[in-house]
Amino acid sequence: MEPKTTDAGLPQARYRLTKQRVAVLRALGDGTHLCADTIHQLVRHELPDVSLGTIYRTLDILRQIGLVQAFSHDGGAARYEATFEKHHHLLCSQCNALTNVRAEGVAQIAAAVAERAGFKDVDCALTIVGRCAHCTARG
Ligand SMILES: [Zn+2]
Ligand SMILES: [Zn+2]
Repeated sequence: MEPKTTDAGLPQARYRLTKQRVAVLRALGDGTHLCADTIHQLVRHELPDVSLGTIYRTLDILRQIGLVQAFSHDGGAARYEATFEKHHHLLCSQCNALTNVRAEGVAQIAAAVAERAGFKDVDCALTIVGRCAHCTARG
């Protein structure tokens, strides 16, 4: 996987992709949202000696570089995913399924609301909570 370049211009050397980082990114490769424990299990197939602490540190660094984003809701355990493009989330309140969605116009609305309060450099992550189609069908 080619490391994405970031706009922040962070020094390359400091953020070289170590084998732990590559393994974590590979675990997140299929676009799912995984908690640190699950990532740990997956990475251990590749790197049997890696500790959960290393996984957390690696996730932290990958977040700083902008290759990983974390999602948490209502104080639940964070779920991590590889950052492919800016997106929002649909969260099922019943089965906890998390789905990536694009929500056109949300960024503009957020910027307009924030600007009225004097905010600059706004970021907005929308979480829409409801019952997914699968859970609804089951009644
Ligand atoms: Zn559901
Ligand atoms: Zn997501």
